[in-house]
Amino acid sequence: MTLNLAAELTSRLAKQKQQHRYRSRRVIDSPQDVELQCNGKPLLSFCSNDYLGLANHPTLIKALQAGAERYGVGSGASHLVSGHSQAHHALEETLAEFTQRPRALLFSSGYMANLGVVTALASKQNNIHADRLNHASLIDAARLSGATMRRYPHNDIEALNKRLEKSNDDRPFIITDGVFSMDGDIASLSQLAATATRYHATLMVDDAHGIGVIGENGRGTIEYCGLNNYEVPILVGTLGKALGTAGAFVAGSEALIEILIQQARTYIYTTALPPAIAHATLTSIELIETEAWRREHLQALVKQFRSGAEQLGLNLMPSITPIQPLLINDSCKAMRISEALQQQGILISAIRPPTIPENTTRLRITFSANHSEQHVEKLLSALDMVIPTNDN
Ligand SMILES: *Cc1c(COP(=O)(O)O)cnc(C)c1O
Repeated sequence: MTLNLAAELTSRLAKQKQQHRYRSRRVIDSPQDVELQCNGKPLLSFCSNDYLGLANHPTLIKALQAGAERYGVGSGASHLVSGHSQAHHALEETLAEFTQRPRALLFSSGYMANLGVVTALASKQNNIHADRLNHASLIDAARLSGATMRRYPHNDIEALNKRLEKSNDDRPFIITDGVFSMDGDIASLSQLAATATRYHATLMVDDAHGIGVIGENGRGTIEYCGLNNYEVPILVGTLGKALGTAGAFVAGSEALIEILIQQARTYIYTTALPPAIAHATLTSIELIETEAWRREHLQALVKQFRSGAEQLGLNLMPSITPIQPLLINDSCKAMRISEALQQQGILISAIRPPTIPENTTRLRITFSANHSEQHVEKLLSALDMVIPTNDN
């Protein structure tokens, strides 16, 4: 038998193309913002996770520059060796205060935070009950932990209750996205918390798309649902989305954070984030706390879009967040629509399986506080042009 790697890879790539699942990257030659440049052409973007419009905010750029002046560029080592700087430490304290939790711990990305927490806390003896639509990093985390993962139907608390009723695990986990990344709906956290209490389960919420955006003060879905640190003992948030920088954090009790420092492998065995990024993120938190207008403006844009889309008869999903997916179902058609939009100067990417379940291909439209009413009008008229009526 000859193993020809090149031939195998070529055939796998061909298959991916044939299924309309081939992924390719666009090269953006401007800062990340609602108005982008791609190959020298201007595009109006409705697909980033920069919900508050902070990624290219002048004050944040200055803070990053000041951070680099003060701390240099690289962190040089992991947190437990010599890479944990004053900037990281200050950001952890600020994140703990912001989320109203005893402590917070920085990770280099949300993906790593999820892997680190779940593998440090769960093992073979545990059951992890995970929402079917949870982010890929939570699925990988559960797999890596060796725990038994059971995925319950999306936001179906009754189904979850039945499973917990039957199970004899004395310390199960319930893990959910706060805002579901591809659907934009919010987990029923109050009910999940009640279920967790009833069955002595530990509830973990990954609020990558909620932090900074949802809740009166932007503290996320936990604030929105009025829950506390006891009801949701493990909170994961990311810094690369609404906060406009990079990295992630876990917030919870003193003991939780200490055990992660001792045992979370994705915390221990990796180089700390550049300290200037941590320094700049302090400014993100300040902007979130002082500029509530960003969240209010976002809400107004979402309302404007939803009422316009309803008039056009577009197939929206139930969401009050800046994630407003438009169901197209057929991947090939969705790709054509996305290309037609791009020709109109609008950037929206089609999200296809396996990122989402079969037959639920969608255009994942997202809004940013940097969008204007005119931008939303432009989007609506472009959608009207490229999506045949009664056919989406
Ligand atoms: C983006 C995302 C992550 C990963 O965060 P990164 O910092 O980009 O690695 C984790 N969970 C959810 C729900 C996400 O949307």
